[in-house]
Amino acid sequence: MTERIDGHTLLIGLMAYPIRHSMSPTMHNNAFAKLGLNYAYLAFEVGNDKLPSAIESIRTLDMRGSNISMPNKQKVIPLLDKLDPAAEMVGAVNTVVNDDGILTGYTTDGIGFMKSLDDEGINIRGQKMTLAGAGGAGTAIAVQAALDGVKEMSIFNVHDAEWENAKRNVALINEKTDCHATLHELEDRDDFKKEIQSSFIYTDSTGVGMKPLEDKTLVDDPTWFNNPDLVVFDTVYAPRETKLMRVAKKAGVKHVFNGLGMMLAQGAAAFKLWTGEDMPVDYIRQILFDDKK
Ligand code: NAD
Repeated sequence: MTERIDGHTLLIGLMAYPIRHSMSPTMHNNAFAKLGLNYAYLAFEVGNDKLPSAIESIRTLDMRGSNISMPNKQKVIPLLDKLDPAAEMVGAVNTVVNDDGILTGYTTDGIGFMKSLDDEGINIRGQKMTLAGAGGAGTAIAVQAALDGVKEMSIFNVHDAEWENAKRNVALINEKTDCHATLHELEDRDDFKKEIQSSFIYTDSTGVGMKPLEDKTLVDDPTWFNNPDLVVFDTVYAPRETKLMRVAKKAGVKHVFNGLGMMLAQGAAAFKLWTGEDMPVDYIRQILFDDKK
C-alpha cells in the first residue's frame, strides 16, 4: 500500500471510540489499491470530546471525508454544513464528504440494507415490512425503506431507551414519506406474530442472535414463518447464521439473509460518495470473509 501513497494522496478517516477492531480500513484500502485510486483510509480514536477538532481537521487538512461511528453518529450533526435528507430523518451520520470545505453528512446503513436485497433480486418496494428494533440500524433501515417506497411498516421495540426515538421516527416517516408506519410493543406476542405473518419481509435489527445473545432469537416458533415466500433478514453478520435464520430455514422460508451483504453495501455506498467509483464488492468480500456469503 505504501507504494500508492505520494504527495497527492487524499486522506479519509474513521472517527469513533473504540475503533481498533474495525474492518473498514482493510475494506477501503484494499478497494483503493485494487482500483488504483489515490486515497488512504485511517482509523482515529476519537470520542465526543475530541470530535469538534477532529471534524475541523477534515477541512484544515483537506481530507476527502470520514466515516463516523459510535459514540459520534449524532454528536457530529451540528459540526457539519449540510445533511443528506435520509441522514436528517434518521438523526445520525456515518459518512462525511468534504467538497471544498463544505462538509455533508450521510447515512449509508439503510442504503446498504436496500442494496443488499436488490443484489439478491428481492424488491420490497410497495410491500409491507415488519421490523424489530428501532436503534441506530433499525432507524436507518426504516427511513431508507420508507424513502425507497416500502408501503407499510410495523416497527416493534421494547419499552427501553429507544422507545421515544422509535416514536419520533414513525411520526417522521408518516409525515415525510408515502409509507404508513406504526409502532408496536415487542412484548405483545400475538400482535408481533400477526404482523410478521401479514408481511412480505421480516427484519430483525436488534442484535439478538449475536454475542452475548448468540443462542437467542425473538421468534423461536417456526409456525410464525408459515409463509415460505416471506423474506427473513437478520442484520447480524457474526455469527454468519443466527438462531433466527435457523428457525426460518427450518420453517421452509426460502429467502433468509444475514447482515453481511448490508455491511459490505453500506461501505460501498460510502466509497462511492468519496471516490465516485463502485467498490469491487466481491473482491472485498473474499478479503474480509474468505467464504461467499
Ligand atoms: P442499537 O443499540 O442502536 O439498537 C439496538 C435495538 O435493539 C434497540 O431498538 C433496542 O431496543 C433493541 N434491543 C436490544 N436488545 C434487545 C433485546 N434483548 N430484545 C429486544 N430488543 C432489543 O444497536 P444498532 O447499532 O442498531 O445495532 C443493532 C444490530 O444491527 C447489531 O447486531 C449490529 O451488529 C447490527 N448492524 C448491522 C449492520 C450491517 O451493516 N449489517 C449495520 C449496523 C448494525
